[in-house]
Amino acid sequence: MAELRQIAFYGKGGIGKSTTSQNTLASMAHYFDKNIMIVGCDPKADSTRLILHEKAQSTILQLAAEMGTVEDLELEDAMKPGAGMFAPDAPGGWINCTESGGPEPGVGCAGRGVITAINFLEEEGAYEEDGLDFVSYDVLGDVVCGGFAMPIREGKAQEIYIVMSGEMMAMYAANNISKGILKYANTGGVRLAGLVCNARMTDREYDLAWALARELGTQMIHFVPRNNIVQHAELRRMTVVEYSPQSDQALEYKELARKIIENDMKIIPTPLEMDDLEDLLMEFGLEEEADEDNVGKAAEA
Ligand code: ADP
Ligand code: MG
Repeated sequence: MAELRQIAFYGKGGIGKSTTSQNTLASMAHYFDKNIMIVGCDPKADSTRLILHEKAQSTILQLAAEMGTVEDLELEDAMKPGAGMFAPDAPGGWINCTESGGPEPGVGCAGRGVITAINFLEEEGAYEEDGLDFVSYDVLGDVVCGGFAMPIREGKAQEIYIVMSGEMMAMYAANNISKGILKYANTGGVRLAGLVCNARMTDREYDLAWALARELGTQMIHFVPRNNIVQHAELRRMTVVEYSPQSDQALEYKELARKIIENDMKIIPTPLEMDDLEDLLMEFGLEEEADEDNVGKAAEA
């Protein structure tokens, strides 16, 4: 049996982690016959809806609260098989789905759900499922604190893919997450495996993403174009891979899936100092002359 690989998608909120991860994992299952378990680690609990064709799956924290305690919770209540193309009896690989969940907004630490969920899944033998090839964590990670660091802190996820774009805050978050990986690289064995640029159409975005990747010592493993078909599929609670397998966008996710399966570039990152990160952004983001001419002119009549 092939060795289990544990991967994680980190990145700032709204950057496209859940969309990119579900579409990529969908391709890994459907085209490359990989069997996968998704562990959603975002209080938003929308890491699996496109695979399940459901609004939102009940989270491990919710179910445990209903039961009174997590000890009374059964794996089959917390882990759902994918629908349609990803069902256990469909051709290709299967996908099993779980969501950790979080407390009510404003109550307690949101990362706690992640810790509870992973412990529960381990105790229930979810990682020993027959034929399982990949576990994938979808983690909210602007700030790699407490529970949100759990997948990288204790050697759970070995390969981290950071979803980012050319926008300053996405770059900033990518650098912060790299700091988190560096911190736990020696104790837990976690590695940075690449940046996924989910395009926002900023200036020279492809080159900027590669420049950041190089500074961090990694690769920009794939540049995912922005495409409205993602919304069309999302409205039907589907991945693009299932909604429109022949579309250009589906082929992009298939390519990213192939690259992840074949990826052997796993490194300890070298995060940037704040000043250097800003210099990088300036170098790529300023259209020198046009920009200089505009500075401070907007308010003049
Ligand atoms: P996150 O999980 O990082 O919070 P999501 O995956 O929920 O982010 O993405 C936020 C929104 O961006 C979603 O509504 C999704 O439809 C949209 N989106 C993500 N990637 C793309 C893309 N490549 N093209 C068009 N829209 C996208
Ligand atoms: Mg998400």
